Amino acid sequence: MIILTLNCGSSSVKYALFNTTANEMLVKGIVERVGLSGSFIHQKVGSQEIIQKFRCDNHQIAILYVLKLLVSPSEGVMKNISEVDAVSHRVVHGGEEFVESTIINSSVEKTIADLSSLAPLHNPPNLQGIQAAKAVLPNIPHIAVFDTAFHQSMPEYVYRYAIPSKWYLEKKIRRYGFHGTSHYYVSQRAMKLLHSSAESSRIITLHLGNGASVAAVKDGKSIDTSMGLTPLEGLVMGTRSGDLDPGIVLFMMQTANLSSKETDKILNRQSGLLGVAHSSDMRDIEEKAIQGDEKALLALKLAAYRVRKYIGAYFVALGGLDAIVFTAGIGERSSHFRSLVLKDLEFFGIELDQEANLEAVCGTQERIISSNASKIKIFVIPTNEELVMAQDTERIVNRIDNKNIKVPR
Ligand code: ADP
Repeated sequence: MIILTLNCGSSSVKYALFNTTANEMLVKGIVERVGLSGSFIHQKVGSQEIIQKFRCDNHQIAILYVLKLLVSPSEGVMKNISEVDAVSHRVVHGGEEFVESTIINSSVEKTIADLSSLAPLHNPPNLQGIQAAKAVLPNIPHIAVFDTAFHQSMPEYVYRYAIPSKWYLEKKIRRYGFHGTSHYYVSQRAMKLLHSSAESSRIITLHLGNGASVAAVKDGKSIDTSMGLTPLEGLVMGTRSGDLDPGIVLFMMQTANLSSKETDKILNRQSGLLGVAHSSDMRDIEEKAIQGDEKALLALKLAAYRVRKYIGAYFVALGGLDAIVFTAGIGERSSHFRSLVLKDLEFFGIELDQEANLEAVCGTQERIISSNASKIKIFVIPTNEELVMAQDTERIVNRIDNKNIKVPR
């Protein structure tokens, strides 16, 4: 089956084309600066890369351009657009309504729109992408894959906040968690590497990118995760604060007379690594730390310490631990950050193989970086959210075909 995956942000469209029968990613690309000046597309097919500038006023034009490129005689990989069997859309917030990926019909679209109050920066452009793609490819199934769905297995005492119940009952304030497709993918891979079944595994997955989160995965199911109602909670991220005393928000607003919008900007866009070390990019921070920059050293310690605290907490939540998985930009590529996170944890049964850790700096290969003596295995597993999207979409499309259901419009 040929499946197009789309991840539509406010000014970008990330895409990939899969042949699920051959388990192969044919193309990966991004349209940047959608709706802005200087739009361009960057596409990779194997080792061949192309960048083309074009005028892109909206998501529909972006998707049309992607399709044009996919069938172009020089850069394309298909003869005809009709070869695409289905489109898979990444949707950030699925609330409590979606516990798994689903075929998109008008009621699903409405629910995604209604959930925009919980993800105002993400769900509206996700929906715009869905509507644009449906306009361009109206006769094939469109499937929504939610970032929150994998964490819907968390028990109520984990996902509820200790605030008056009416805020949960009326406004749905609870923890949802994000990066679900990534945590699902790497935990499944870790189970394979552990030769363990979905019924007996305790894994901590560390998705450490610009956005970062931890998940505790027991027997294949998420039982806790560090992000909450929004992606602001949890780890120290590129520009997000992560966990803080909620009193700080009130204090900032009251003492500096800030609006909620201004406070939101401080906590989501000016905090985290950027707030402490004046750069949100881990490569810059590591570079500065090597030169002895105090702020960079502090930011590294602060961020690593927060990850360590979650490892301790989730060890208890899981009732023991079989493996820790590092993934995403920092998790896959920064041997230094991995060693800061796992330093002096031998008493816990965690021992890094320093050489293997240093060797695991880039590439697409899964690697084990714990020593032979380590009771808990440590893996670096490159995430592959697009593959999960494509596989989920194939599964749902097969279900539709088997039941002979008509594709909803
Ligand atoms: P996102 O998808 O959330 O935008 P990524 O998963 O691409 O983020 O991760 C981006 C982060 O990974 C940045 O902080 C970047 O500096 C870091 N990163 C990428 N390559 C390296 C590297 N070789 N060493 C250290 N950090 C790296």
